[in-house]
Amino acid sequence: MFDFKVIAESETSQARAGLLQTTHGVVETPVFMPVGTRGSVKSVSPEELLAAGARIILGNTYHLYLRPGCEVIRRFAGLHRFMHWDGPILTDSGGFQVFSLAKLAKVSDEGVTFQSHLDGSSHLLTPSKVIDIQNCLGADIMMCLDDCIQYPASREDTMAALEMTIKWADECKQAWQETRKADNALFGIVQGGMFKDLREQSAEALMKIDFPGYAVGGLSVGEPADLMLEMADCTLPNLPKTKPRYIMGVGTLGNIIELVALGADMFDCVLPTRNARNGQMFTQHGTVNISNAQYKEDPEPLEPGCECYTCRHYSRAYLRHLYMARELLSYRLNTIHNIHHFIRFMKQVRKAIVADEFESFRKNFYRKLEN
Ligand SMILES: [Zn+2]
Repeated sequence: MFDFKVIAESETSQARAGLLQTTHGVVETPVFMPVGTRGSVKSVSPEELLAAGARIILGNTYHLYLRPGCEVIRRFAGLHRFMHWDGPILTDSGGFQVFSLAKLAKVSDEGVTFQSHLDGSSHLLTPSKVIDIQNCLGADIMMCLDDCIQYPASREDTMAALEMTIKWADECKQAWQETRKADNALFGIVQGGMFKDLREQSAEALMKIDFPGYAVGGLSVGEPADLMLEMADCTLPNLPKTKPRYIMGVGTLGNIIELVALGADMFDCVLPTRNARNGQMFTQHGTVNISNAQYKEDPEPLEPGCECYTCRHYSRAYLRHLYMARELLSYRLNTIHNIHHFIRFMKQVRKAIVADEFESFRKNFYRKLEN
């Protein structure tokens, strides 16, 4: 089953709190989804993800399709059992990685051909094929194939990609309806680059096709944060209030809180996990580079008061030592804290919306960063 309900709205902004019902559980929104690129959120187990507060994770169709491939995952009746994660899973369509990672991506009406970044083998992703793959992965929420353009892009190129994205969205919807398991949802992806009117046009065309939820793609691709927020601001209010809105691939907590204020419900980003592996830790007072010499003998937890496993049991000195010695435990402990930090933040945001204290929470968030 799939359902979305808004349970509280901020009086002073578009921020809202909701409940996303999936077959694999209920998710409170706004929500942050850790990225499990290849069927694993790097360095942590599903139990550790749950303990850090994660309730829904993301899987990347492109990576899983190439390796281990659908045939393997089908034997386990999907990604949930294969990776031992019982919560909801959202999968992307693979489009973004085809355009950013694969070689020789070429768009035609039929779909996009590309060469695998792993072994150079040739593949064709069509709208119906990306639905097949995501069905095989057993995704609770799947995404339409979209034509992702570079930033910056001309109006002409943006328009062409937008038209292709709408055509593919229509075909994805048909393929999804024909093969639909009663329990999953398909989201359309708004594109339109950095052109306000094209964003509006894209949202309108997708709403005509009618999806259970909507994603906003093509943001956080190298544009300044102000422009990103401007594009979100001309997209989000045009999407139906009763449907979940997912901003793809953003980003910092500062950007997330601003996007929540504009009415976004779902977020994913590799920032907390990738940066954890590079020794960059997030705290409510800003980022900490654990390799700094000042932590060499520091007996304090990374963030005093943080209830994550890492902060409850380990000192900054130990975390620094693990990082400097390139011990594998460093990746795991750092990742646990960063995921916990992002998810705790989203819980606080939600609580503030429900209590109608979102504005003061937002101000307080920036004030803390300055101290
Ligand atoms: Zn912590």
